[in-house]
Amino acid sequence: MLIMLLGPPGAGKGTQAEFLVKNYNLAYISTGEILRSAVKKGTPLGLKAKQYMEEGQLVPDDVVVGIVKERLADPDCRQGALLDGFPRTVAQAQSLDQVLNDLGCKLDAVIHMAVEEEELIARLTGRRVCRDCGATYHIKFNPPKVRNVCDQCGGELSQREDDSLATVTERLAVYKKQTEPLIDYYRQQNLLHTIDGNQDIDAIAAQISAVLDKLSQ
Ligand code: ADP
Ligand code: AMP
Repeated sequence: MLIMLLGPPGAGKGTQAEFLVKNYNLAYISTGEILRSAVKKGTPLGLKAKQYMEEGQLVPDDVVVGIVKERLADPDCRQGALLDGFPRTVAQAQSLDQVLNDLGCKLDAVIHMAVEEEELIARLTGRRVCRDCGATYHIKFNPPKVRNVCDQCGGELSQREDDSLATVTERLAVYKKQTEPLIDYYRQQNLLHTIDGNQDIDAIAAQISAVLDKLSQ
């Protein structure tokens, strides 16, 4: 099963992914996470990506396509994978089609999570992420049991640099212009399943599960 989560920054893709990869035994491919880890380690990839990410812009297509192509060839992806935050442009989607074609597989579903802009801003500016395991929280909507401490590993929570109000505004504009056209791209391929992402976390998880359960029947 190869599934993609499509939606604006803050839609809840990472939050749902945590549950989906466990329940459906999928390899997790988040280009944002791979890039953040490269920036943190100061690798050549990280040095290339850093400025784009800080400014809320997209990293060039060839760079992210290269990352995903390599990752999809990993053995753990054979049983199935969940793409989060990739593709983000029509050019990336076309490259993905080519890569999957070469690997002899295809996307099974695109889960599009639609959320109102005001809600996205509230979610992103209140997001906190574990420095150690990457688990995602929200100061109001999904707080940890102990303030600033990860429930899962005890790590310290921090705010992503690109979750400041100014960068969030830019990222939402970039989504509208460069990523939203993918909704039509995947609708035309009959792969699109739109979920109301304004609901609470468990309700969204239940609706995504219903889509995936139907696919695997
Ligand atoms: P994305 O990966 O799409 O950018 P995240 O999963 O990181 O989004 O979620 C963004 C923020 O919103 C996080 O702080 C998360 O805890 C919170 N969040 C996620 N889903 C919901 C929801 N359904 N209702 C309220 N807050 C949510
Ligand atoms: P995310 O964690 O998905 O919110 O991504 C964080 C940042 O990483 C984005 O704002 C981009 O700068 C970069 N990024 C992640 N995925 C992609 C992608 N598919 N294409 C281009 N840039 C990306």
